[in-house]
Amino acid sequence: MTTELILGIDIGGTKTAAALVTAEGAVIARVESPTPAREGGARILENAVTLGRSLCALLAGGDANPADEASFAVVGVGVGSAGVIEPRTGRVISATAHLSDWVGTEIGHDLADAFRLPVSVCNDVHAHAVGEASVGAGRGHDTVLVAAVGTGIGGAVVINGQPEFGTHGIAGHLGHLPIAEAEGLLCPCGKFGHVEAISSGTALHQLYLRNGGDPAVLDTRGVVARADVDRVAHASVVTSARAFGRTLGGVINMVDPGVVILAGGMINAGALWWDSMDAGVRENVMPILNDVDIVRAELGDDAALIGAALRAFDIQGAQQ
Ligand SMILES: [Zn+2]
Repeated sequence: MTTELILGIDIGGTKTAAALVTAEGAVIARVESPTPAREGGARILENAVTLGRSLCALLAGGDANPADEASFAVVGVGVGSAGVIEPRTGRVISATAHLSDWVGTEIGHDLADAFRLPVSVCNDVHAHAVGEASVGAGRGHDTVLVAAVGTGIGGAVVINGQPEFGTHGIAGHLGHLPIAEAEGLLCPCGKFGHVEAISSGTALHQLYLRNGGDPAVLDTRGVVARADVDRVAHASVVTSARAFGRTLGGVINMVDPGVVILAGGMINAGALWWDSMDAGVRENVMPILNDVDIVRAELGDDAALIGAALRAFDIQGAQQ
């Protein structure tokens, strides 16, 4: 019996990972390498192709599953990539300056050429959300809201396994909602007053310094670690997390999710962050939605790979 697999690829700002993924979302082989972020779009894709080919070669050699004689066939490629992606064509519409010459890269077209397989591409946040919603912390729920709080703030809404893309591929991106605590603060998107400017990891460190915190504290981790003993650190964590929670509460009112999944580095910032976030949610959420569960993401680093692969399976299924 032949088991169909998708080659899942996650192209991030620092590393690129590839895996062979089953229709149930199981990873059967995985490789990764640093993303050549400064070397331009062609090199970034070339690196992804090299990783993918090494996995396909593994399969051809029969090493992927030495335990039995089941055969495998790679039937498509699913990509989750950094940057804003046009999901129908797989073209990069915009990206941070960190990825040189990434805008305009035709990921879908070029990878279809390289692998001679159908390719589907979406943003890594959307891919991550599909993975978590389908086989991670969102299992069993039709409507799932995913929010990631790390160096920036991202998010996605997944309904029946399908991510909402919107017109430009950025739907669900809750980092750029306005919040009173961020008034006057410049957001990385170029506008003022967005929640990312007060609640991202980067913003928490800046808030601490602005509030008169110790300049010797060099990063967000340092702020979080001092929150028990440093009054300014404590207040900064509370303000930042509560602002995020209040924003999230508003989004919950709009989306009415069965579960909310949080990802990103800040979810490991400890009980003070989590409790302040939760208090912010309760301040804003409508009473009928007050029992919504807010849980941690489960799939870790593989969520985007798995989600990109599941989406590729879905699209192929719909086309058959
Ligand atoms: Zn913004």
